Amino acid sequence: MLVIVLRSFNKVISNFKFSSIFLIEIFLFSIILGILIVLLFDVTNFQLFVVALSILIFDLILLYSIGIKRRKDIEEIKSVIKSIRKNRFLHEDEIILSKSLKDLEGNIKAMSRRTQQDIANMEKLAHARTEFLGYVSHELRTPIFTIQGYLETLLNGAVDDSNVNKTFLKKAFNHSENLNALLNDLIDISMIESGLLKLSFRYFNLYDHLDEIITDIRQTLPSQKINLSLQEFNNGLEVYGDKDKLKQVMTNLISNAIKYTEEGSIDIIVIEKSKSVLVTVKDSGIGIAQAEIDRIFERFYRTDRERASSIPGTGLGLAIVKHIIEAHHSTIEVSSEINVGTEFTFKLKKFALS
Ligand code: ADP
Repeated sequence: MLVIVLRSFNKVISNFKFSSIFLIEIFLFSIILGILIVLLFDVTNFQLFVVALSILIFDLILLYSIGIKRRKDIEEIKSVIKSIRKNRFLHEDEIILSKSLKDLEGNIKAMSRRTQQDIANMEKLAHARTEFLGYVSHELRTPIFTIQGYLETLLNGAVDDSNVNKTFLKKAFNHSENLNALLNDLIDISMIESGLLKLSFRYFNLYDHLDEIITDIRQTLPSQKINLSLQEFNNGLEVYGDKDKLKQVMTNLISNAIKYTEEGSIDIIVIEKSKSVLVTVKDSGIGIAQAEIDRIFERFYRTDRERASSIPGTGLGLAIVKHIIEAHHSTIEVSSEINVGTEFTFKLKKFALS
């Protein structure tokens, strides 16, 4: 019994609390009403007492009913927000508020839409993170196992066999270099994708830039069967971009052209337009099948042919290129034909006196 009385009392108090924000207004209204009654009517002390008591009772009833109404509205909003946070609505049209809260319905629906988008993005991110970790561990495992295999064979006696010891050491060393390249690419891609990579834009001379890159690469060319050349163009041409990052783009594209061209030519072609410059890396290599073209910019994507071959690679080079070019507000285009060759082209902003 006592518990029931206490609960009812608490409920009454809490209803009053919900209307407490109107306390001052109701108090002022009551005082004004009391003063008006005293001024307009000739009331005795007893009548004044009755008036004051009636006003007090009226105030209490008013506060109590406002409290009930506000409590109902606030609880309704709370429950809708809780359902939105728990993603219980399949569609925003399922959110229907009572008549007194109709004005809020639009805002709550917009909030639900945004929350659902946030939840979907978070799920997508979590999935991408797991997928990324899966790829990374898989890609790291291959060179590590191979290095371990060679070292184990050497330790088990091959180290004294002059026919194989140097070859095995060289192979282990090559795989450690692949591992290093993979780690560098991984650092680059995670910096880019997490937005930590800051670009520093300025105008620079395109001819000197490309000439320097090509001269460096020529010295490391694996065979004399490849002719790497920079075709003539206006050597005073200035373009706008991050010089270091564009060097990475060119290095990745030219290294790919070299990797995938056994014998033939690699040409760097620059075409000047009125406001922009088109840079193309064209090779006469093995080409890419049309069905694969849409996927080569995905991170870790390597065609089955490349995976099966001994050509080293991480499948990250073109993903890095794409990110850098997009950060220059540009796009990279590719056209290719099997056994004829491949062309990668991107656009840069040209310096123009305006
Ligand atoms: P990888 O480290 O495997 O070269 P990339 O991201 O640089 O990774 O390239 C992805 C895939 O695109 C390569 O595995 C290869 O199949 C294909 N590719 C890229 N450039 C060329 C090219 N110039 N000629 C032929 N295939 C290419």
